[in-house]
This record gives sequence, C-alpha cells and structure tokens, in this order.
Amino acid sequence: MRANRRTDTKPELALRHALHRLGYRYRKDYRLDLESGRRVRPDIAFTARKVAVFVDGCFWHACPEHGSKPRANEWYWGPKLIKNVERDRVNDAALILAGWTVVRLWEHVPLDEAVGTVVTALTPTVAPKPANPANPAKPPKRIPPPATDDSLG
Ligand SMILES: [Zn+2]
Repeated sequence: MRANRRTDTKPELALRHALHRLGYRYRKDYRLDLESGRRVRPDIAFTARKVAVFVDGCFWHACPEHGSKPRANEWYWGPKLIKNVERDRVNDAALILAGWTVVRLWEHVPLDEAVGTVVTALTPTVAPKPANPANPAKPPKRIPPPATDDSLG
C-alpha cells in the first residue's frame, strides 16, 4: 500500500523527512481512537507530545488560495469538498478536546515554514527565566591567545 496517495503526498513526505533529519520521531498515518468515539488519522502524530499534524491538499481541503471549486460537476464536487472541510473541523475539535495540539498545514506552504510550525508546536512553551543578578551567567572561558613577542612592534 505504499502507493497510497492519501498518505504519501509529496509535501507530506518532504515534511516527514525534514522532521526525521532533525531528530523527531513520529507515527505516520496513525489511527487515534479518541474518547469521544471519533477515529482520526493525522498524517503525522507525535503521540508522547500529543501533537497531530495534517498536511492538507489545497483542492481536497478547499484552501482559500488554490481551492476554488471546480466549475465542472459542481453538483458533485461542491458538497463533497464541503463535507471534507466539515470533517476536518469536527476532527480538530475532537482532538483538541482530547488534549491534542492540532497543526494544519496547506500543501502549498514552503517546507521551511512547515517545519518551523511543527517544531514550534512540539516545543513546550517555557516562561522566560527572570534575570537573576545574584547568579550571573559565567562568561565563557577564553583561551588565551598564543604569546607573541610584541617588543618587536
Ligand atoms: Zn493552497
């Protein structure tokens, strides 16, 4: 089933590879059975940190920039796409309710930006430490430069 288009789109693959290179480990296309009874399969799931990442196709998920509804067969595509989007929102709500952080990226988002968004979501927000003058940070040790004979200057 490796040729499954739903799970192995190019932007998603690129994002997964980039995250893997950064040392992140995740589950791909992992089914979550939420307490609400809803089953959701994020494209990339960080189960320990409870971060669910979706890479949404511009067409299938009706991206505001590229997701203009196809004119042909609108009677067919219109309701289908609306249903997709509605399902996305319901899934998001169910995940958030279950304590997950949901990250949705359009497939048109540049890779760097996508990686940055995911990494931010994975990084716990720590309040900045207040400056503590009683315990100033030690300056880095300096290696003395090699002795030079400047009497010749
Ligand atoms: Zn788009």
